[in-house]
Parts: sequence; C-alpha cells; structure tokens
Amino acid sequence: MERWATGVFTSIRGGLGASLDAVQRLGVSTVQLHAPTADWRTPARSRETREQFAAAGITVTVVFVGFPEDDYATVERVKQTVGLVPAANREERLAETLAIADYARALGVEAIGMHLGFVPPDPADPQHGQVVEVTRRVCDHCRANGQRFHLETGQETAEELRRFIREVDRENLAVNFDPANMILYGAGEPLAALDLVGPYVRSVHCKDATRTRLPGQPWHADAPLGTGDVDVEAFLRRLYKLGYEGPLTVEREYSPDQAGDLEAALRLLTELRTRILGGR
Ligand code: MG
Repeated sequence: MERWATGVFTSIRGGLGASLDAVQRLGVSTVQLHAPTADWRTPARSRETREQFAAAGITVTVVFVGFPEDDYATVERVKQTVGLVPAANREERLAETLAIADYARALGVEAIGMHLGFVPPDPADPQHGQVVEVTRRVCDHCRANGQRFHLETGQETAEELRRFIREVDRENLAVNFDPANMILYGAGEPLAALDLVGPYVRSVHCKDATRTRLPGQPWHADAPLGTGDVDVEAFLRRLYKLGYEGPLTVEREYSPDQAGDLEAALRLLTELRTRILGGR
C-alpha cells in the first residue's frame, strides 16, 4: 500500500455492488469497512466480499465494529449506550466484537476499530477496571488473529485515552484518530490531542466539524472536509512529523450530498498530499 493512500469509510449491506461501484468511481485504493450484520459474515459471503474487493484493487484497512443500540443523540446517551462500556451489554458485545475480528481475518484485514465508549476516567471506579479487562480480551483475540485493535478518538480527552492505552498495556492496541470528534464531543483541541496519542495512531478519519452550533442543537455539526474548524493541512503536516504512513480515510456521514462531499474531500487530500509529500 502506498504511503497516505486515500480511502473512504464504507459499508456493505444488501448492495455491495453499488457501494463498491461508488468507491471505485471515487478512485481510491483503500476503504475502512463498517462490519455488516452476521448474515453477511458467513464463510461464503466473506469469500465473495474478499474476492470483490481484490478484483477492484481495493484494500480494506480496518473493519469497524458498531452496535445497533449505540446512541449518539446526547453526551449522556453516549455514556449509557456506546461500545463496550455499558455493563449490561458487555459480554454480548464482546462476543460480537470477537466474531467481527474473525470476519476481518477472513477478509485478510489486519485491524478492527471501534468507539469503545466513554471509559469512566477514575481508576477507582470498578467499571474502569472492567473496561480495561474487556479491552485486553479483544486485544488478545486480535493478536492471535495477527491483528491490531484501533480505538476511535473523541469521547475522552487525549490525556485520558493515552493513560487508558498504557494501562491496558497491549502492543496491538492502537488509535484511529478522528480530529472532528475532538470538536464534536468537546474533548479538546485536535492537534494538541494528536501530539499526545501520536505514537499510537495507526489509522485516521479525515473528517471535519464546526464549533458553531445550530440553534437548539446540543451537538456541534459535522462539516464537509476543509470547511469546518479542523485545519486539515496542519493535521496532515502533524501526521507527517509523526512519521504516519497509513491511509487517509475520509469519513462523511449524514450529508445531503455525500458523493459530492467525498469527491471534494478526496481532491483536497490529494492536493495536500502532493504539497506535503512531494516526490517523497
Ligand atoms: Mg470517525
């Protein structure tokens, strides 16, 4: 895979052909794949998916785990529902996570990623230790598969995330850095955050967000890449300084013109990539 290969965040459901077509039209060589439901993870379908991506010349770099009950409506709902943090769902979700890691292995993919959820920051909180333990179980399963486990940034500050990673203490635990999430969740300034967790970053989401709130909305809003409060060029220059060589994956959800936004984002990344990497 070439350095800073461009990619998009994608998903397959019933229509792999169509979405794969769309990805091919965008001219990218990598994708991150949102894990499909179990009925799409059978050995036969996994083989078919693997062959389709291979025939298209597209490398799947990370398979992302999500759960149907994850609710991002408010910060409070995030704390209650997202990832491996909610105690009531933890065992069931752990089993699903390990199954998705095995699915990723069947596709030949070297990493899974996830919003782990809002880890209670106080080490004295029993829930904190239990989340550390469940994260180790995912890491150890992934390690046996020859895979890494990437934590999506955003719900906690970079300092908390770094402390958590050190506490879990597994070599294959890494970070999927999403600068927009730091803004969306009010978790700190994206570039300062990147400096703190930089050595762990093995994948990124090129996503933007604006600090301007719409009236009555609790959230900051996603924005097309390059139009929000993420300084994309500074972000890439910081990645360059860190020696990051992985893919640049555009994530753009909830847009009235998703295809147009993706195209514009890829144009911007290609231009910046040339400016920063030049012939290197
Ligand atoms: Mg993201």
